[in-house]
Amino acid sequence: MKVTEHFKNSDKTLFTLEVLPPLKGENLKSLFNHIDPLMEFKPPFVDVTYHREEYIYKQRENGLLEKRTTRKRPGTVGICAAIQNHYKVDTVPHLICGGFSKEETENALIDLHFLGIDNVLVLRGDCVKSEQRFMPEPGGHNYASELIEQVVRMNNGCYLDDEQAFNNGTDFCVGVAGYPEKHFESPNMKSDLRWLKKKIDLGAEYIVTQMFFDNQKYFDFVHRCREEGITVPIIPGIKPLTTKSQLTVLPSFFHIEIPCELAEAVEDCADNKAAAQVGVEWAIQQSKELMAFGVPCLHYYSMGKSESVRKVAQALF
Ligand code: FAD
Repeated sequence: MKVTEHFKNSDKTLFTLEVLPPLKGENLKSLFNHIDPLMEFKPPFVDVTYHREEYIYKQRENGLLEKRTTRKRPGTVGICAAIQNHYKVDTVPHLICGGFSKEETENALIDLHFLGIDNVLVLRGDCVKSEQRFMPEPGGHNYASELIEQVVRMNNGCYLDDEQAFNNGTDFCVGVAGYPEKHFESPNMKSDLRWLKKKIDLGAEYIVTQMFFDNQKYFDFVHRCREEGITVPIIPGIKPLTTKSQLTVLPSFFHIEIPCELAEAVEDCADNKAAAQVGVEWAIQQSKELMAFGVPCLHYYSMGKSESVRKVAQALF
């Protein structure tokens, strides 16, 4: 079922989560062990992230460096199918521009369609770690909006190598990313919202936000989106802070701010156990306020750790 249908069919706030594929070499059991404790909160769908390749340099015997490509967390499509089969819930694979030609994207979408997966979260993806800025694959897409156009064309039965439309198109519900604190590359919020509006105008049906720790940033973002004519559901992304080091890691990686009150409370913690407890309490308060605001769904970033998300969900769902 489509994500938007889940929203329409429910009159209360839904619990959903985002998981990472296991590291290469691990098996599905480690992922299921992570998801199992969260299933009692009945997520109607689970998002699975996509991780592009990284370059590593190995020194050869002659001293020269050899550039190798590796993907640490492969398997997004297979994992989505496995979760659907195992838990009988829908899945939302994240689909990125980076590392994909249009042909590879088309093949991935055909696989997803045949596997009975009805949703995709369409993203540009970040640059490869060793590169300064995002570089599209030759023959690939520069922006998420271009990838949306390809998905929408396929939904209308138009494939890359054929002029005519086929009767059997795909039927994906498309979600996209939004940034209450602005995407880090964007010169200003107005410009970022202009491109976000373009993604919606092209056919995206809902937005999932980057994590934020200050609800006011989300409320302001929703307000500005509505002013720009963006009317689709805007799903808040919530991450319970779990370690002291995340006070610096999360802002540097995700380009977000941590409010003083939360940062000071975590700094005062003797250890990570105490910090995680502060993180859980903060996420519960955030979630309660967002539920009262009437959000259709809360999207929890579990990032490989289910314990804190479980504690938050126990208090709310
Ligand atoms: P876009 O919408 O393409 O925007 C990128 C930047 O370009 C923005 O600054 C935008 O304002 C600007 N822009 C957009 N269109 C144009 C245009 N036509 N001309 C000029 N400027 C333009 N990354 C992964 O690799 N894997 C994941 O699984 C993943 N999951 C995510 C889930 C969520 C909910 C979120 C919020 C992010 C996720 N990301 C993931 C990170 C995401 O890929 C990065 O934030 C990336 O840098 C931007 O992706 P986007 O889809 O927002 O890009």
